[in-house]
Amino acid sequence: MKIGSHVSLKAPDFFLGSVQEALSYKANALMVYTGAPQNTFRRDVSALKIEAGLELMVQSNIDINNLIVHAPYIINLANSIKPETFELATTFLSKEIQRVKAFKGRIIVLHPGAHVKAGLEVGMDQAIKGLNMVLDDERDISIALETMAGKGSEIGKRFEELAYIIEGVNNKACVSVCLDTCHIHDAGYNVFDFDGVLDEFDRIIGLEYLSVVHINDSKNEVGARKDRHENLGYGKIGFDALLKIINNPRIAHLAKILETPYVDGHPPYKTEIEMIKKGEFKDWRP
Ligand code: FE
Ligand code: FE
Ligand code: ZN
Repeated sequence: MKIGSHVSLKAPDFFLGSVQEALSYKANALMVYTGAPQNTFRRDVSALKIEAGLELMVQSNIDINNLIVHAPYIINLANSIKPETFELATTFLSKEIQRVKAFKGRIIVLHPGAHVKAGLEVGMDQAIKGLNMVLDDERDISIALETMAGKGSEIGKRFEELAYIIEGVNNKACVSVCLDTCHIHDAGYNVFDFDGVLDEFDRIIGLEYLSVVHINDSKNEVGARKDRHENLGYGKIGFDALLKIINNPRIAHLAKILETPYVDGHPPYKTEIEMIKKGEFKDWRP
């Protein structure tokens, strides 16, 4: 089982601290933002204790393929209205790819973007344009477009939208998909029939494009288009359905990453990973 969570990357230990945090949860996978998710300020990679972190990963038998990076969510490649937003998105994403290479990482999760009133198709075409600008000369990395809940004008609520974008990308070796259980549930997919979801994914996108899975429960009903994550077993998806997803043999080779909320300022991941490994829910919240 390849299971882990989002972990922080912060002073003083930066990436070494990220790996230590993952190990403290008994995880063998991890996802980091290379800086604050909501802004584009980035410290130089030389300051991030990357070598020490990678060394600890090797010592701890964490496969480098189980290291995932999430691009900051302010990147909006689909914005066709404000040239400066699109410009920032493409230049930042190019730099982010180089940063990820310094981490020896391969998979970069990216929200496909929001069309901000321009219309879905215009937004998707803009995202394609941006991805082609950034990816044409790239190799050894994969931008994993995330399935989204569909709030506001968010692109990626239907597999068809992601398939349309991938279709337009020239360098298909550098693009893939991140499936988020909370997001697809909120977008209206029936996660209780996960094999059915995977069949549909395979038919529309192709299962070979799936590169990472986010495991989250959801605070809202199916189709609510809200995107509010919940701790495993405390939401509308529930522990049993999530456990079935995690253990589905068709995605056994992919890293599963928890992005469930902190409770009273504490990360829930050690407990949640323990529950997953035991295959048993325990009521741990105060
Ligand atoms: Fe995300
Ligand atoms: Fe996610
Ligand atoms: Zn989310």
